[in-house]
Formats: sequence, structure tokens, C-alpha cells
Amino acid sequence: MGTKKLVIAIDGPSGAGKSTIAKLIARGLGYTYIDTGAMYRAIGWKAKLEGVDPRDERALAELCIRTEVTIGYDADGQRVYVDGRDVTGEIRTPEMGMMASAVSASPSVRARLLTLQRNLGANGGVVMDGRDIGTVVFPRADAKFYLDASPEERGRRRYAELKAKGMSVELAPITEEIRARDLQDSNREHAPLRRAADAEYIDSSAMTIEEVVQTILRTITRKQ
Ligand code: C5P
Repeated sequence: MGTKKLVIAIDGPSGAGKSTIAKLIARGLGYTYIDTGAMYRAIGWKAKLEGVDPRDERALAELCIRTEVTIGYDADGQRVYVDGRDVTGEIRTPEMGMMASAVSASPSVRARLLTLQRNLGANGGVVMDGRDIGTVVFPRADAKFYLDASPEERGRRRYAELKAKGMSVELAPITEEIRARDLQDSNREHAPLRRAADAEYIDSSAMTIEEVVQTILRTITRKQ
């Protein structure tokens, strides 16, 4: 008899290291890593393509109806498709982060992606990262974590990540973009960024990746 396949929720602000950590946890457990931010970025990408104003709820609702967001997997991990086109690389820019944050305030967009996310996690065996996984998407997740770090550290991490991808970026605007996005994500009406009451809080500012992974795995092992 195998152990039960859990749903693991990792939420937190931008640049806290959620995706890096979630990928390692998923690999360690033989689970699937699900990046929900990429889905909001995909809708933001389409809104940009069509010149849809992210504050126009009706236009976004209509866009959701005729847009297909699908998720696939290859050796590098999750891939995101918009109407069959692979946008995985294109959505990883600061501009698409801001677009994602803008469209993610829309109840139509959230309702649409909620269904997709719940379906992907229905059979367990997933590590899902985002802003509202432990509060809204899977309020009964088997293990919940809220991963945080100081704004300065998050800015530095995001800067290093984009730089490593060969993008020409500067630290100050990246830190500012992260700050603006967190403010927007925390203050929106629908499913704001918030720590679930039963989520384990981890401040990773002064921790190594390995330390964070070990902390999370200890909790999961206990739950299993
Ligand atoms: O995680 P990532 O930076 O890719 O997310 C992009 C944006 O998508 C976030 O700033 C947030 O506004 C939105 N998002 C969300 N709910 C999630 C995941 C992401 O609202 N579960």
C-alpha cells in the first residue's frame, strides 16, 4: 500500500522563492508541480495581445469564454498554452507579471482558473503554488505553507533570476515592480494574497533553499 497522495499548497508574495521550492518538493515526493501564476500570466498575455483593458470586467469575462488555457508537461516541467500556442517563455517578463496581477483581480478570470486548478489537483499528488491556494483553491489542502522573505531579498532574487535568463534588467525597477504587485495582490477584493490561518509561515530571508526544502519536507512527512 502506497502512502496517500497529498495536496500541498504554497502561497506567498512575488519573489519569495515559491516556484524554486515547490519544484524541489514535488521532485522529492514524485508529485506534480503546478504553477498557478503562469495561468494568470497566460490570460494577461492574451489580454495584452488583444488590447483588452484589464479593468474592463465585461471584456475580460468575454475573453475568458473564448480563450483556452491548457497545461502540459515536458522534461523541463510545466508548459502553458493559450489557444494551442506555447507561451511558457513569453509570459516570464516583469510586464507580464503586472498584466497577470491586473487581470487576476477579475472575478471572471479567477472563477475560470479556479476550475482548472481544482481539476489538476483533484487526485492529489500535487504541489501547487500561488496566492490563494490554501485559502480558496484548496482550503482543505493536506499541508499549507506561506513562504515569505523581506522585500529587499525578494527583489534581489527576482533580479538574479531574470539576469540569469539573459534579460537586461536593473534591481531598482524590479524591486518596485514586486512591491506594486504585492500591494495590488494583497488589497484586491477577490481572493487576495493572505496567509491561511492553518498555513505554516516560513520567512526564508536568511535561509538557504535546502533549509526551506527540509523544513517543508519535515512537516509533510509528519502529515503522511
Ligand atoms: O506567481 P506569479 O508571479 O507568476 O503570479 C503572477 C500574478 O498572478 C500574481 O502577481 C498574482 O496577481 C496572480 N496570481 C493570483 N493567484 C494565484 C497565482 C497568481 O492572483 N494563485
